[in-house]
Amino acid sequence: MSYSVESLQRQFKLFRMSETAKELPDFLRKAESHSWTYQEFLHELLSYEESCREQKMIEKHLKWARFPYQKSLNEFDLQEQRSLSSRQLKQLKELSWLEQSFNLIFLGPPGVGKTHLAIGLGLEAIQNGQRVSFISMGELIPLLKTEEYLRKAQIQLNRIRKADLVIIDDLMYMAMDQHEANLFFHLINHLYERSSIILTSNKGPEDWGELLGDQGITTAILDRLLHRSEVIHLNGESHRIKYRKSIF
Ligand code: ADP
Ligand code: MG
Repeated sequence: MSYSVESLQRQFKLFRMSETAKELPDFLRKAESHSWTYQEFLHELLSYEESCREQKMIEKHLKWARFPYQKSLNEFDLQEQRSLSSRQLKQLKELSWLEQSFNLIFLGPPGVGKTHLAIGLGLEAIQNGQRVSFISMGELIPLLKTEEYLRKAQIQLNRIRKADLVIIDDLMYMAMDQHEANLFFHLINHLYERSSIILTSNKGPEDWGELLGDQGITTAILDRLLHRSEVIHLNGESHRIKYRKSIF
């Protein structure tokens, strides 16, 4: 029987511990120089593999989330957004609303930070090991309508249905017909009490009826969205206009 480092590395790979396999020579050296006990050695090895796997999972979840851009909550300036206190932001960052399947609804005019906040919370959730999906309402409806025959739509919608947090950006930007409102209702109904939803919109729930068309469906959607939810009104002037970049 051979105990060469190479054959040990091969065995680690066999058990899908390829990161550990790569670092094994280094671990063996450290174990000798620091005189690690057997337990310490195993602990170091397994913790290394564990943290590599966590990192890989976070990277995979970041890719699946499909954020339009990545901006953290630390980059959100509360001096610029007086409607949210630092205590409230800290509370949101702690994610207990997500554990309790609460929905968040960010309302306000364009450029006040609704999408930034939603993405920041999404990033926080991913770091916490959760699955997140970001989609704008403009993309969601075509996706739902093509689900029956487009493989790509099926994959993306499956990820949305399995996510712990679904961010639906710019709700009600467009008017929906009865069929679209129905598809949207079925998705919300599936997510209801299973995941958290963050919605951003420049119109309040009182105006959603006119855009969803059917009053019955609107009531059913609102019922599920608002049942366990926090509505957060953001205001102030548009960050985009205030910090407008110009060429000259
Ligand atoms: P909307 O409310 O229209 O979704 P966004 O969240 O997309 O607006 O914000 C528009 C731009 O302004 C983004 O680049 C965002 O990072 C920035 N922004 C908005 N509010 C703030 C803020 N309070 N602090 C830092 N950046 C902000
Ligand atoms: Mg936005």
